[in-house]
Amino acid sequence: MDRRGAKRRAQEADVAEPRNKLARPALSLPTDPALYSGPFPFYRRPSELGCFSLDAQRQYHGDAHALRYYSPPPTYGQGPKFDLRDGYPDRYQPRDEEVREGLDHLLRWLLDHRGQLEGGPGWLAGAIVTWRGHLTKLLTTPYEQQEGWQLAASRFQGTLYLSEVETPAARAQRLARSPLLRELMYMGYKFEQYMCADKPESSPDPSGDVNTNVAFCSVLRSRLGNHPLLFSGEVDCTDPQAPSTQPPTCYVELKTAKEMHRPGHWRSFYRHKLLKWWAQSFLLGVPNVVAGFRNPEGFVCSLKTFPTMEMFEYVRNDRDGWNPSVCMNFCAAFLSFAQNTVVQDDPRLVHLFSWEPGSPVTVSKHQDAPYAFLPTWYVEAMTQDLPSPPKTPSPKD
Ligand code: GDP
Ligand code: MG
Repeated sequence: MDRRGAKRRAQEADVAEPRNKLARPALSLPTDPALYSGPFPFYRRPSELGCFSLDAQRQYHGDAHALRYYSPPPTYGQGPKFDLRDGYPDRYQPRDEEVREGLDHLLRWLLDHRGQLEGGPGWLAGAIVTWRGHLTKLLTTPYEQQEGWQLAASRFQGTLYLSEVETPAARAQRLARSPLLRELMYMGYKFEQYMCADKPESSPDPSGDVNTNVAFCSVLRSRLGNHPLLFSGEVDCTDPQAPSTQPPTCYVELKTAKEMHRPGHWRSFYRHKLLKWWAQSFLLGVPNVVAGFRNPEGFVCSLKTFPTMEMFEYVRNDRDGWNPSVCMNFCAAFLSFAQNTVVQDDPRLVHLFSWEPGSPVTVSKHQDAPYAFLPTWYVEAMTQDLPSPPKTPSPKD
């Protein structure tokens, strides 16, 4: 066996080793799909622990006021004619993307509810806390060929927190975003406005502003393999007519895509877009994604519901398709890798996991700014909370 081969085998073995057996954590994690094609791992049915809302000024509220109600157009008649460009740019109030929120809103929820968490005492100390969107990126990593990512990780009171860092390339792309792409982003939100009502008994009102500061976020508990998870994700709407009113099974995700006319367009859509849609909705337990297909003039004239659990069928027999097992096994492997790497409990210490397509995931270590992301208000409140250590009698007592 040549030395390189031996080294590669040793690294692969490290990746698979459980935490307490490891002398030293692995230095990197490969992302090749072929390495993760085992049976589908255990994934606990996500259950909703609570929710919160962000208002038009992006202020946190511990309630569901921003939740909207699925209200599709009647299925009889000619079908929809939604002008997705209507109101752009004069009735568009986009969120300020320069504001780095990190996990802050989720941490606020956690601070307010830490006393009532199910799972028993100590459950949180063994859990991973993050946004659903970060887990989505992990799920799609083995198939991603365009965009890398960076995830900052800190351990605090046992819990592993994961918070995305915008890569320099992503920042450059965002700042250079073309007018066309900006309008396309607006159109996605505009579609939501055509499909959602503010109250279960009312109808959509497309005359108002599109304000992307407003968000309804569900907070869920799940488990991937032996990794307990607490994460939050933004939910587009709830279906008052869903067979079950229990969240997250009543939630609906809304998406737009280009109208497609050739089999080749559909094939590419199944391979790329449907993977992202599946990963996002599967994680949160959202059973249906409703797609609006827009024509070149920016009108949605047809809708199609994609049940999350049927999405894989579109690529099952495609050699260039994706596989849910690969996505979930890679995510589980990454979470083990992170758990084994971030050993020291210190909210000011950050392990930065970096990935670029074609390379393995690598790690670097940082202290405090600019990477530390657990806010002082959170760390202090959580620290004051701990049962105070028993007082040792001093000579003066
Ligand atoms: P998603 O799955 O990518 O939509 O992300 P999540 O559902 O996990 O959302 C987590 C939080 O991040 C919510 O408060 C969202 O409003 C916010 N968020 C989602 N996408 C973006 C984005 O592209 N930029 C910024 N700054 N925030 C986002
Ligand atoms: Mg959506």
